[in-house]
Amino acid sequence: MTTNGILLDKHIDFLANNDIMITVSLDGNENHNSYRLDSYGKSSFPQLYQNLKVIKDMYPEYFKRKVTFNAVLHDRNSVAEICEFFEAEYNVIPNISQINTVGIQEEKMGEFNKLFRSYIDDLKKVTNPKNINDKLFLKSPDIQSVSNFLIQHSGNYFKSYDDLVATNNDKNFIPTGTCLPFGRKMFITAAGKIFPCERIGHQYAIGKVSDAGIDLDTAQIAKLYNEYYEKIERQCSTCYNAESCFVCMFNIQGLNRERPICNEYTNLHSLKRRFSEIFSTLEENSELYRTIISDVVIE
Ligand code: SF4
Repeated sequence: MTTNGILLDKHIDFLANNDIMITVSLDGNENHNSYRLDSYGKSSFPQLYQNLKVIKDMYPEYFKRKVTFNAVLHDRNSVAEICEFFEAEYNVIPNISQINTVGIQEEKMGEFNKLFRSYIDDLKKVTNPKNINDKLFLKSPDIQSVSNFLIQHSGNYFKSYDDLVATNNDKNFIPTGTCLPFGRKMFITAAGKIFPCERIGHQYAIGKVSDAGIDLDTAQIAKLYNEYYEKIERQCSTCYNAESCFVCMFNIQGLNRERPICNEYTNLHSLKRRFSEIFSTLEENSELYRTIISDVVIE
């Protein structure tokens, strides 16, 4: 479960007793986290920090095994500062993500660009990249792309037992790398809107929870997904990345419009360039291949 952590003190007994894994959204120290406000407009950090302290004291084993963190990168923090805070406070490295760039209103673009930070650009500013990459491991974009490459092209990765026994001819490809709705996650906002995932723009709600009950029309959801797939298929059908795509269609600009454009579209030239970059990373870090193959567990 992903949570802002504000109500954790109330519900922690239930969560810990049922061994429920939680991901807490926290962007670092009080200043790093200052975009996150409570319903009164005040910093949510003191309450969250206190709640985490309570969990750590009351359920230390559970805290170690089942509590993870997601930090969002912006203009009030950096990858290095985030790592420093979490290592000192909780002895972990959190998952770090960029702000979603899809669905920003035109008139808010200036404000958005001011607070947006690119993960890759931020890492370039780090004084000791080897050290930070070692700490981040799969959370580092460079290492993540090598791991994705091995998943896509090593020939030893199977999404399911069905894939293990199916021949290539039996495979059907659904455009993009989008998860099927509720196949992995579900996200419900405080206002009751239902989404397939918390990383999706609010224009893509697929249902609602209210006092009247749950409004979820599966036939309508299937129709909607098929309409989106049809729009993007034109690009995917000639893309060199189509068989191993990780792109979520909800992160493609203009999915609601007639002709969405996927910026990750891969032609032969860009495929060669990507392979070349991956091979260079592997040549420079010869131990990386073995570490990923032997240590990475894909759930
Ligand atoms: S990367 Fe290629 S296959 Fe994936 S969504 Fe974009 S165009 Fe389609």
